[in-house]
Amino acid sequence: MTQRILIIEDEPDITEVLKYNLEKNHYQVATAGTGEAGLAAARESLPDLLLLDLMLPGMDGLEVCRKLREDPRTRDLFIIMLTAKGTEADVVVGLTLGADDYIVKPFSTTELMARIKAVLRRVEQRDGEPQGKDLLRCGPIHIDLQKHEATINGEKLELTLSEFKLLSFLLRRKGRVFTRDQLLDAVVGPDVFVTARNIDVHVAALRKKLGKLGSYIVTVRGVGYRFEES
Ligand code: CA
Repeated sequence: MTQRILIIEDEPDITEVLKYNLEKNHYQVATAGTGEAGLAAARESLPDLLLLDLMLPGMDGLEVCRKLREDPRTRDLFIIMLTAKGTEADVVVGLTLGADDYIVKPFSTTELMARIKAVLRRVEQRDGEPQGKDLLRCGPIHIDLQKHEATINGEKLELTLSEFKLLSFLLRRKGRVFTRDQLLDAVVGPDVFVTARNIDVHVAALRKKLGKLGSYIVTVRGVGYRFEES
C-alpha cells in the first residue's frame, strides 16, 4: 500500500523539493502551509508520517506536535521535525513532546530519504509484526523482559538494573532519538533527583558491557541518544 506523508511547511520552495522527491520515491504526498491547516489535515487524513517544520507562522510546529499527541486518534502518528540550525533547545522540546526524529535544514535529500525510510520501516514493524511482549531482539542482542536477562549471541550480560532498563527502553524504540531527561525518566523514574548528565554515566557503562555492539548506542549531539543497528 502506498504510504502517505503530510508536509507542514510554510516555505514553498522547500515544500516543492520535498514533494517532488517523495513522489519520485512513490509516496503519496499532501501539503499544508500553516500549523492550523496542517493540524486539520493530519486529523482528517491520519497520514503514515508527518514532516513538520518547527518555525511556522501562527501555530508553530511544537504546538502542532503537542496537540497531535494529546488526541488519542493522532497520538501515534510518526513525526519527523524539520528544524533550522542551532535550534537544539527546540529539538529537545520537540522530542519531549513526542516527535520521533528530526532533521536539520539545510538537509540533503539523500539523508532525509534515509530518515524517512527508517521511520516508515518502524511503522511497518508496529503495524505488521509486533515484537513479543517479553522478548526484544536486535541482531545478536536478545532481551527477555520476564527473566530480566540480556544476552549477546546467547552469552549473558551482567547488567545493573538501570543498565538493563536503559537497554530495553532503547532497543524497544530502535531508531528513535531520546533526550537525556526522557531516558532518565525511563530508567530511574521521574521523581528521583539526578541531573540529566547522569544518564551519560549509565550509557558509558552499558556501551562498555556491550563491547563491539556499544556503537549501537549513538550519541546525538546536543540532544541525547538513539539505538541503531550499525
Ligand atoms: Ca518555516
